[in-house]
Amino acid sequence: MERDEALAVVKPKLKQERYDHTVRVMETSIQLAQTYGVDEKKAEIAAIFHDYAKYRPIEEMRRWIQTTYLPKDLLHYHHELWHGPVGAKLVEREVGIHDREILESIHYHTTGRSHMTPLDKVIFLADYIEPGRKFPGLSDVRDAAWMDLNHGCWMAAKNTIQFLMSKNQPIYPETFNAYNALTKANK
Ligand code: GDP
Ligand code: FE
Ligand code: FE
Ligand code: FE
Repeated sequence: MERDEALAVVKPKLKQERYDHTVRVMETSIQLAQTYGVDEKKAEIAAIFHDYAKYRPIEEMRRWIQTTYLPKDLLHYHHELWHGPVGAKLVEREVGIHDREILESIHYHTTGRSHMTPLDKVIFLADYIEPGRKFPGLSDVRDAAWMDLNHGCWMAAKNTIQFLMSKNQPIYPETFNAYNALTKANK
């Protein structure tokens, strides 16, 4: 699928601010893919669709999790974590993208996972560092992102966990799995 066609599919599914974020994630993902020898075309498409399900009604997302082979433990965590896994399903069924690597990077873009592929890492990190983001500690993550893909992802995962813990929020196990696996990858 060409970029303009993909963007036209996603645009009506998102609010303007989320669409603008999506375009910045796309640009950042392509740059990271070029830097680290990842398939740029897959990075482009995965980035364009990564937040496809962001504005689906919570009850619709809940039904997708209940009625398809998605992890049921998601239902015990915040619904903000559902748009990645549900998005991967919807992008396959509604848009007709069947590339497993692309679908998995959409699935895991919020939490990461224990064995992240290079494409997973590109999308996860681009979503975190795109130029419109403002998180505490972000400038250090941005610097690291262009030096070492694993280290950049590790810092993003660590910041997310620290932020959630500071707010007394529960943390999904896959988020810890990503952090732990990236810690080992650093050594
Ligand atoms: P966005 O869709 O572009 O806004 O970004 P993400 O999909 O990466 O993240 C959505 C939200 O999920 C962010 O506010 C994260 O802080 C939050 N988040 C990420 N991991 C976890 C987790 O393990 N548990 C909880 N409760 N929230 C998380
Ligand atoms: Fe997201
Ligand atoms: Fe993210
Ligand atoms: Fe996003």
